[in-house]
Amino acid sequence: MKLLFSFFWVSFSLTAQAQLSISNLFTEGLINPIGVDNPIPQLSWTIKSAQRNVLQTAFELKVFDNTQSKTVWNTGKVNSSQSINVKYTGSPVKSGHRYNWQVRVWDNQGNVSPWSELAFWQTSLLEKADWKASWIEVDNNIGTNSPYFRKKFQAKKKIISATLYVTAHGIYEAFINGERVGDAYLTPGWTSYKKRLQYQAYDVTKLLKPGTNAVGAMLGNGWYKGTINWEPRENIYGDRLGLLCQLSIRYVDGSEEVVCTDNSWKTSTGSIVYAEIYNGETIDANKDKNGWTLPAYDDEKWSNVKVAAYGFDNLIATSNQPIKKHEVLTPKKIITTPKGETVIDFGQNMVGWEKITFKGKKGDTVRIYHAEVLDKQGNFYTANLRSAKATSTYILSGNEDVFEPHFTFYGFRYIKVEGLTDSIASGSINAVALYSDMPKSGTFSSSNKLVNQLQQNIEWGQRGNFLDIPTDCPQRNERLGWTGDAHAFFRTATFLRDGNTFFKKWMKDMAADQLSDGRVPWVIPFTLRQDQVASTGWADASTIIPWQHYRAYGDTQILVDQYPSMKAWVDYMKNNSVDFLWNTEKFHFGDWLFFRPDDDKDGKAAITDKYLIAQSFFAHSTQMLINAAKVLGKEDDARYYAELLINIKKAFLKEYVTPSGRLVSSTQTAYVLALSFEMLPEAFRAQAAQRLVENISKYGHLTTGFLGTPYICHVLSDFGYDDVAYKLLLRERYPSWLYPVKSGATTIWERWDGQKPDGNFQTAEMNSFNHYAYGAIGDWLYRKAAGLQESAPGFKEIIIKPHVGGGFSGMKASHTTPFGEASSSWAIKNDELFLDVTIPVNTSAIVYVPASSKNEIMEGLIPVADVKSIKTEEKQDKYVPIKIGSGNYSFKVQKNSWK
Ligand code: BGC
Repeated sequence: MKLLFSFFWVSFSLTAQAQLSISNLFTEGLINPIGVDNPIPQLSWTIKSAQRNVLQTAFELKVFDNTQSKTVWNTGKVNSSQSINVKYTGSPVKSGHRYNWQVRVWDNQGNVSPWSELAFWQTSLLEKADWKASWIEVDNNIGTNSPYFRKKFQAKKKIISATLYVTAHGIYEAFINGERVGDAYLTPGWTSYKKRLQYQAYDVTKLLKPGTNAVGAMLGNGWYKGTINWEPRENIYGDRLGLLCQLSIRYVDGSEEVVCTDNSWKTSTGSIVYAEIYNGETIDANKDKNGWTLPAYDDEKWSNVKVAAYGFDNLIATSNQPIKKHEVLTPKKIITTPKGETVIDFGQNMVGWEKITFKGKKGDTVRIYHAEVLDKQGNFYTANLRSAKATSTYILSGNEDVFEPHFTFYGFRYIKVEGLTDSIASGSINAVALYSDMPKSGTFSSSNKLVNQLQQNIEWGQRGNFLDIPTDCPQRNERLGWTGDAHAFFRTATFLRDGNTFFKKWMKDMAADQLSDGRVPWVIPFTLRQDQVASTGWADASTIIPWQHYRAYGDTQILVDQYPSMKAWVDYMKNNSVDFLWNTEKFHFGDWLFFRPDDDKDGKAAITDKYLIAQSFFAHSTQMLINAAKVLGKEDDARYYAELLINIKKAFLKEYVTPSGRLVSSTQTAYVLALSFEMLPEAFRAQAAQRLVENISKYGHLTTGFLGTPYICHVLSDFGYDDVAYKLLLRERYPSWLYPVKSGATTIWERWDGQKPDGNFQTAEMNSFNHYAYGAIGDWLYRKAAGLQESAPGFKEIIIKPHVGGGFSGMKASHTTPFGEASSSWAIKNDELFLDVTIPVNTSAIVYVPASSKNEIMEGLIPVADVKSIKTEEKQDKYVPIKIGSGNYSFKVQKNSWK
């Protein structure tokens, strides 16, 4: 009997366990990060279950010190629903140490999960005193050549683990014993170097061997010293390239050794004879120092290095995903243009570089130029790159050469090849996409092919402009962290990819580069003139992004970190206001690139008063600050700024709104911002929305620029004008989102008419074909059209509310929330509406099913009212709200009752 009982008990507990499983163990937003600065890192996990309505009720976490297999934190069973951002509060962590951790959870259905697999994090060099290395530089004048550095050393005993810490003044690639260290590119990435210079930590255990080893690195100018900005500036952060490198080796006997950059290193130059971010790279294969990172290499003739006395105060461990190689594209077409140029079309506007394998004549020079588009005649077009030369120059060795740049990147779809004596087909040429390795977190598809292509273009726009910082564009002599563009695109970006650590890092740079009076620079990192700051709609990235980040990822830490910066910006506006009216004479970009017809005899251009916009953003930023203050429990601030907000809105009404509710600028952007930011009293809102709709119908299209566009379709949907939002979305003629798609675009254009209907380009001074800002429509597609949005921070609570319409027969969006996958998919078949929903474990949702009554809705095969675990509420507007827990649900609405 006892045996039988225990058999049942065992099998019962196994089934109970099998119901729940844990995956995706994140430390500080990353899987198994090496080099974590935060001594109290945040731990998150996702839970899977085959059951519905599953909530975590308790967790148990164990953290082990890797080297001693000692438990440094055992939480015991903690009754808590928290499964994201749990702060480590075990024994103090040690520098450069690895910690393993695992977790198990209990749910509200009586299940307990098995222990998760082990995950780990490794701490960074936590104290400045842990840095034993010195900065090394080149003592001689090496012109534009990339400096190489190397050192030979002995590993005396059997190695148990080794970590390489490395950073540079410039961009580096590091090697050990002939192997490249890691698969990150353009490291150490771009930050406000003077205050925050990232270093990377790599596990290099496998690259070392007992006996003689060699470590080396080569450098490029990068952002540190290279020429940056459209008004060119070089040596922005310093005029000398430098390397800082520390290799920590642990031996089996427990002893440790460090190999550091110091005056024992040797330096020389090699095959990289020129490299600049904007201009490209020159590699002379004949100057290759074959085997220079191997131990046996003879560096007798190399020069000594110079040790430089920089401190370590600005060093921070990398906290976001590095830039990595991704798609490798093969040529789609080889074209001979009317001008006789040899051009390869890769079929996709992208960012990265080419990789070519070729055997040619020794000394021959091959030049590869990069372009996003061909002109009207089909010739190679680079005028829109402005002064960026974007050229790879390769000097052949006579043997088979493999060329690929190191310290530059290009935005291109086409390359023009010059100087190959043999035909291109005799070698191989590919295009390699490079971008920050943020995991994909969203999918979208619909029954409309053009909209799907638009979505693709948005995705490629993100890939190409997320290289450690969010850039405006990736090709011309700019490629800067434009603040306005970034907040316009933020919500779309974070639907598509996991932007948690990427934006946290960039926001810290924003705070670092903010002026002491609170003014926020136009671009971050700040490389412009000191007065190029504080434009409305740009500087507000400092308040908008932290708040939206909190909504997307549910991590209050971003608000804690950014609060002083948010407040400083709002205070700056407040302090520079007269009677609560902000800034009526200073420079602002305004609704950048709004609709402006070529022939404007009758005043068709949609010009929105810049100060009306400024006042709207003043209010919006203040609102973001109030939101943050409330979350952080800063009651006094919340009250104080709420009072301020009332006055800002009053001033807006007095200055920019007529007594009957008309805005002084009767433009789409003016109404959109006024409605979106709640600038108008309740009584004026419906008529303002109507005016917006009338304005759209008068033009027949949208007229908004960078500031109005992200919000326009949201406002329309919120005020019951889905039909108008869909009209804007589906319009195929200029200006519209689909006009570029119809014109063959594979990314989002900077301007609505980058290439005009007559085939001519917009002015070359401002005509990027890869600018994500207008891709902000992606957020509406996910959030409104497909109907998937968060209603509590981090998607702890979800709203599924599809806006069925636009003649679509179906639409699907999925998103990897911090809790796991959520999705909303609707389809119309034979006049019945199907709505399939996935809600992650440990969250809940309200699904708004479009239906005339709840009696018209089935869930699976059962009328929804009979499904016990579901709570159906009274109909609101045209939706029946249904409360559900986690799991998969299939709703069906009877013929036509959803219309
Ligand atoms: C950039 C933009 C940016 C703008 C400021 C341009 O040069 O490419 O995207 O936001 O300047 O208005």
